[in-house]
Formats: sequence, C-alpha cells, structure tokens
Amino acid sequence: MDVVVIGAGAAGMMAAYAAASHQASVKLLEKNNKTGVKILMSGGTRCNLTHHTDARGIAEAFGHAKRFLQPSLGAFPPQAVVDFFESAGIATKVESTGKVFPVSNRAVHVRDALHRYAVDSGVEIRTGCGVTRIRPDGKSWIVETEESAIVTDRVIVTTGGKSWPGCGTTGDAYAWMTELGHAIERTRPALVPLIGGDPWMNDLSGLVVDDSLVSVLPVSGKQKPLARRRGGLLFTHFGFSGPAAMDVSGVMTAADSMEDVRLIVDLIPECTEEELLAEINHRRGGGKSKMSSLLSMWLPNRLANGITAQLGQDVRMAELSKNLRKQLIDNLKRMTLPVIGTRGFEKAEVTAGGVRLDQVNPRTFESRLHQGLFIAGELLDVDGPIGGYNFQAAFSSGRAAGIAAAS
Ligand SMILES: Cc1cc2nc3c(=O)[nH]c(=O)nc-3n(C[C@H](O)[C@H](O)[C@H](O)COP(=O)(O)OP(=O)(O)OC[C@H]3O[C@@H](n4cnc5c(N)ncnc54)[C@H](O)[C@@H]3O)c2cc1C
Repeated sequence: MDVVVIGAGAAGMMAAYAAASHQASVKLLEKNNKTGVKILMSGGTRCNLTHHTDARGIAEAFGHAKRFLQPSLGAFPPQAVVDFFESAGIATKVESTGKVFPVSNRAVHVRDALHRYAVDSGVEIRTGCGVTRIRPDGKSWIVETEESAIVTDRVIVTTGGKSWPGCGTTGDAYAWMTELGHAIERTRPALVPLIGGDPWMNDLSGLVVDDSLVSVLPVSGKQKPLARRRGGLLFTHFGFSGPAAMDVSGVMTAADSMEDVRLIVDLIPECTEEELLAEINHRRGGGKSKMSSLLSMWLPNRLANGITAQLGQDVRMAELSKNLRKQLIDNLKRMTLPVIGTRGFEKAEVTAGGVRLDQVNPRTFESRLHQGLFIAGELLDVDGPIGGYNFQAAFSSGRAAGIAAAS
C-alpha cells in the first residue's frame, strides 16, 4: 500500500510512523524545511505532550467532539503516548497541573523522537514540499506539489488548522476538502488571548491572579455560563491572557459577536460570597483598617489599589456603607472584563472548527465521502483546552489514520 501523508506535525508524523510500521510504503510531505515546527515552539518550547488522565478524561475535555475522539483515544491513551516517548528515551514528568512534559523540558527531544521513529520505520520524509491540491483518480489519489504530482493509493491529510500561520499552518487543506465535498465548520481562533479591558486596567499590565474563576455568560436569555474555567488570569497591555482567559476564548469566538457574550471573573473563588461578607463585616468592627488593606489579603496590591480607586476612595472599613459593600462584593465575585476581540489566528494556539466530524469515520479517520482519503489532527473540527489535550488528540487520531490507511 502506498500512503502519502501531508503535513509533518504531531498527527502527520505519528500517522506516517504507524502506517510504515504496518508495512505501508510511506511518503511524508512537509512544506517547512523541517518537521514538527509547532511541536518545537509548543509549551514555551517545553512541549506539553499529553495530560495525566485517561482516555475518557481527554475525551470529556473536547465538548462536542467527545464521542468522536473516544475510539482513537481508547486505542492510544495518554499512558500509551508516555510509553511511546519513554521507549524512545524521552523520560516524562507530570507537573502539579496534570501537564506532562519531557523531563529535559526540551520540545526538540519530542520532535526528534517522532522524526526518528518515522525514519527508522522506513518513512521517506520530504521537507520543503508544499502540497497545492489533492484529487481522486479512479482508485488512486493524485497529490500535487509545487514541483510534481505523486500518485498514491491512500492519502492522509494532517495539515493542522490555520493558527500561528508562521508555523506553516495556513489552512491550505480547507479548500481541498471543500472541493472534495467536505463541509467545514466555521473556523475561529481558540486558546487565544482576548483584547479588551477598562482604562483603569492599563495599570495592571503583567499582573497575574493565580486563582480566578472566569465565566462566559450570554448577554441575553438564561444566565447559565457557556463556559467556566478556574486558573491563572493574566492582565496584559491589550487585555487578558493566561490559562483561564485562553481556555474560554473559543466559546467567545463561537458567538456571532463579542457583544453577545460577557466575560466575568470571580477574583476570589476560594471564598463564597457569604464568607466574604462575613469577613468584611468582621473588619468593619475593627475600626481603622482600610478597604485596600482588606483587599490585599486576597489580591495583588496593584489590583487591590485599582479596585479601591474604582470604588471612589479608600474608606475605613468602619465607614463602609451598605451600597459600597455591595459594589465591593460585585467587583470581587463578578467583575466584568470588557472584551472587544481576540488576537486572532496569529496568536491562537488552536483552530476551532474544521472538517465536520460526521463525514469522517472515528475509528479509521477515513472520509465517509471518499475511499482512501484520511483526515486527522487539528484539521478536523476538534479543539481541546490547554494542558496537552491537543497533542494527545493529534497523536491518537494520527495513529488510527496511519494504521487504517496501511491496512
Ligand atoms: C504556540 C503554541 C503552543 C502550543 N502548545 C501546546 C502544548 O504545549 N500542548 C498541546 O497539547 N498543544 C499545544 N499547542 C497546540 C498543538 O500544537 C496543535 O494542536 C497540534 O500541533 C496539532 O497537530 P497537527 O498535527 O494536527 O497539526 P500541526 O502540528 O499544526 O502540523 C501541521 C503540519 O502541516 C504542514 N502543512 C500545512 N499545510 C501544508 C501543505 N500545503 N503542504 C505540506 N505541509 C503542510 C505544516 O507546516 C505543519 O507542519 C500549541 C500551539 C501553539 C501555536
């Protein structure tokens, strides 16, 4: 069986290796001059390669794609990914967040291991080889590159999404897929920093709230959160970043307009509103202490001072009126973070949307529209949270596609 894999990222290298180790003759085509460019820059160049959980834990994090991903994750779960890299000499470690990294903290080791696995199993890797189109030709496929056309029995498309286009991921395959009759769910940036903020927040640039609970609420209708995430929130010169803001960003970009959704933060999620009120009332009896010093118990000074300034003046706790008390609680437990946009695909860690899942077989990743066409990785309509989930899905789907394409 001749198999051509297009795109040497996480899914493509795994697919090529899996196909070649199941006796296929495999060519892996990559437009960049080296393989795995996104792997190299991932996780702050440390590569968070999976998450410390089981297949179900990964699938659950993928929302609408949960059931689709289950079979491939079940066949190649996080522990199998860890074993795969450990058998290539890449020891891994689990951090307190559950993120799995190479002990060396070097993404290049992960990329090199995948590259080596592929080469050792007989994959012919062609870098600097951009594919321009694919088309069926009877029972074969023609893969057109900038220089030539390759005829093959089967083709696996793993060109990723269109975020961080500087990595080579410019969304080329969406046009090929559309031409082949595949529906594409609207693509949008996810895991992306958000643009916005109030003028007073300009002074907070660089400030991190280690433990926050960020929620996305619809502006109209039921006030049930569309997404919630507890974690670090970073105030920046343009708006908001950090895991909590980034993780809910995909839900915001799913809205028709940013005006349809609100971003709310609970700055002290470890205390209930009642506990906060009790503490405030207790302090009111204390006389001289000021509101800013109370806030500094929970928040970084700059944020405590900013909130105090917002509320007018740094009154003594004994002078805290009922109205001010309410405003204070509102600011601490449900502060609105105004958002007008995102940093776009340029700065999005993943692309949400993509090839519609009901047109792809979740066990083999073969197109339900075309025999011999396999689609895996981020090109599909899958996007997971920060934490190694996205690489895990790319590895599992790529492997399943590779094995199926070789059979
Ligand atoms: C800055 C950053 C950090 C990240 N960190 C993490 C992390 O730590 N953990 C995690 O789980 N996820 C992380 N991600 C997300 C993760 O990198 C992706 O979800 C994952 O790489 C998707 O794998 P893929 O194989 O589908 O696509 P990619 O890895 O994007 O690979 C696609 C490949 O196809 C090639 N290609 C595209 N078009 C063509 C063409 N026409 N011809 C030939 N080749 C082509 C591209 O050059 C690219 O090499 C991060 C993403 C970014 C941008």
